[in-house]
Amino acid sequence: MDKVFYNGVIITADEEDHVYSSGYVHVKDDHFFEVGDGFPHHIPSQDTEFYNLNGKWLVPGLINTHGHTPMTLLRGHSDDLPLQRWLKEKMWPMEQKLTREAVIASSKLAMVEMLKSGTTTFLDMYHLYLDDIANIVDEAGMRAVITRGIIGLCSREEQKAKLDEALSIARNWHGKGEGRITAMLSPHSPYLCPPDFIAEIAHEARGLGLPVHTHMSETAHEVEENVKKYGKRPVEHLWSTGFFDGSALVAHAVHVNDEELDILAQHRVAVSHNPMSNLKLGSGVAPIKTMLNKGITVSIGTDSVASNNNLDLIQEMRTAVLLQKGINQDATAVTTAEGIKLITANGAKALGLNEKVGSIKATKEADFIILEAHAAHLQPEINASSHFVYSASGQDVLDVYVKGKQLVKNKQCLLLDEEKIAFQCNQFYQKMIM
Ligand SMILES: [Zn+2]
Repeated sequence: MDKVFYNGVIITADEEDHVYSSGYVHVKDDHFFEVGDGFPHHIPSQDTEFYNLNGKWLVPGLINTHGHTPMTLLRGHSDDLPLQRWLKEKMWPMEQKLTREAVIASSKLAMVEMLKSGTTTFLDMYHLYLDDIANIVDEAGMRAVITRGIIGLCSREEQKAKLDEALSIARNWHGKGEGRITAMLSPHSPYLCPPDFIAEIAHEARGLGLPVHTHMSETAHEVEENVKKYGKRPVEHLWSTGFFDGSALVAHAVHVNDEELDILAQHRVAVSHNPMSNLKLGSGVAPIKTMLNKGITVSIGTDSVASNNNLDLIQEMRTAVLLQKGINQDATAVTTAEGIKLITANGAKALGLNEKVGSIKATKEADFIILEAHAAHLQPEINASSHFVYSASGQDVLDVYVKGKQLVKNKQCLLLDEEKIAFQCNQFYQKMIM
């Protein structure tokens, strides 16, 4: 089936940052066939569907490179605490109460929120019911990286059982859902996983050709403790376990010095920058301008809504861009075009999906979103890229497509029942706090 979207602003996020101010996108089945200014050069087949965008924006599907969907149920559960107290006093006791049904409802709620705010691809790190989550991703038509977060401070038997489970999830799901689902292996963090176990997990990942993912250098306290315990800062510590020998993605990287950034750059380690979560937990601001200058792939994650508190990647992008201008006292620190790449092309690269998605380009798979252009906060209508970074939000997303299939139509999810999911989540949360 051919679909032609025309008369719109096409923000491609391709290598040259092309923006077509009156452009078209020709989608053939599940991929982009052609994109450009004006109208298609090839006359598509007779049953082609034509959509007049009327000036609306067509943007690549957004990519969230770090989060935990089952924690969506804990939105608003705890504010105003630093990371370690927030985890130990508030999150972990509640997570013990998460039933399978609650995890399913919570993940669905996250997917509704992500889809409706333009996210088509996300990384989900969790330790419970990953098979159920992957099934929901499959049914919901989204694209996701599924990874079982492993806490390794336990007996050798438990470590083995957790790693076996992570491996079986990865083997079962990598490449499933017509290629929409992929897998990674994830020790939770250097502070919750001993180095020999991290080395073992990384070794297994390389054997399967899978990337690795972890939380790293989120707080200054974590870095100090790492030095006390192992005599090394987290980057050098992870490096010594072989964690960077294959493809690796680290979340946070807030407290990293220049030498550590050189190590990350040298080993092509990608970063998932989580600015709002880092701000809310009082962790700090990651030096992403320096990372970008060193050629590191910087992408954006929301982390869970328990520390964000939403999954709106457009807001997250704006926060990231503004923070760098502010802390560097430099308005050019991260540009508008670089900002857009953080949640599109760079996200795809960070997840190892850049051959498939991340930009509007012929042959790539057709993951894209269509945004409002006529609202008061988006006037005057020219300079759409600027509005996208500095004025829009996820609320402006109207339509969402993954692999050419429509998942959101005029702000309504087509495959997930939003009302029912929200009702169930409220019931589960009530039960958990009783
Ligand atoms: Zn996290």
